[in-house]
Amino acid sequence: MPCDNHGILIISLDFELHWGMRDHLSVDGFRGRGLETRAAIPRILDLFQEYGIHATWAAVGFLFFDNREDLLEDIPDKLPNYVRSRLSAYSELLSLGRDEEEDPCRFAASLIRRISSTPHQEIGSHTFSHYLCREKGQGIEDFEVDLKAAKKAAQRHQLELKSFVFPRNQVNPEFLPLLSEQGYLCYRGNSRLPSAEKIEDPVQTLWPRLLRLADSYVGFLGFNTYPMKQIVPGPLVNIPASRFLRPYSASLKWLEPLKIGKIRSSLTRAARKGEIFHLWWHPHNFGRHTDENLRNLEKILRHFQKLNRDYQMTSCNMGELASRLEEPKT
Ligand SMILES: [Zn+2]
Repeated sequence: MPCDNHGILIISLDFELHWGMRDHLSVDGFRGRGLETRAAIPRILDLFQEYGIHATWAAVGFLFFDNREDLLEDIPDKLPNYVRSRLSAYSELLSLGRDEEEDPCRFAASLIRRISSTPHQEIGSHTFSHYLCREKGQGIEDFEVDLKAAKKAAQRHQLELKSFVFPRNQVNPEFLPLLSEQGYLCYRGNSRLPSAEKIEDPVQTLWPRLLRLADSYVGFLGFNTYPMKQIVPGPLVNIPASRFLRPYSASLKWLEPLKIGKIRSSLTRAARKGEIFHLWWHPHNFGRHTDENLRNLEKILRHFQKLNRDYQMTSCNMGELASRLEEPKT
């Protein structure tokens, strides 16, 4: 286990395929990107292996199933009652294909097996149904039902879920005690960067979005690394995100070196100061311009490797970091 005064790189990925993209694209509209994403995942795992990366893959529960029959068997009795009912993933149940081969963007049991059998990769939860924790109409009882369904889906793979990522980063503080009751050790909190999700009004969300977009390239909002002591030990540990790895942009191609440079300098700072840098993205962000995105990732990981040599910086997944905080108690 890493020493307290060495920097730590945390990587978490929100693994959702079409379940997180439903209100942007139809399943057919997502298919090309979904297939590319599926092909990119083993390549991401290869890079993680090559560079000794321990990562958390927070997966939507529906993806754990091999086929429709099994999923339908495990659908809870109580479903979320969103005011905007189209946001419910359950509205898609009737259109599901038979199995992963027929519907590769909504089932992914083989990928769950592939990821969980790769050393140092943790499967975490992104809820059962890509549950939106601050959406109007839903409530804590619905959330509890969703959590239990996610746990049951993971048991199909003999997995125990310890790390949690809120869909759309809609962290709901009232739900945190329930997470720890259900056996979770940690969740990913939001970064200090302005967040559009915290604001209801669509006009007002524009500024945080623009600010974050600009910051990805210029980095005027700071490094966003933090010391270990800022993580408060407790039944449920918050491991805040530092930065979103924005996907490669063909139109802003000339700014890509700036974006990667910003991440590398944040990593250097974390390594020098013995702090944490928590990078996150979705595998489907690599479902377009896959080669360019993987090249960018490799540049980041190569830099991490250098920092590992020079400063003994280490890589931890969320569950490992949270268990480490538990250690003094045992
Ligand atoms: Zn999501």
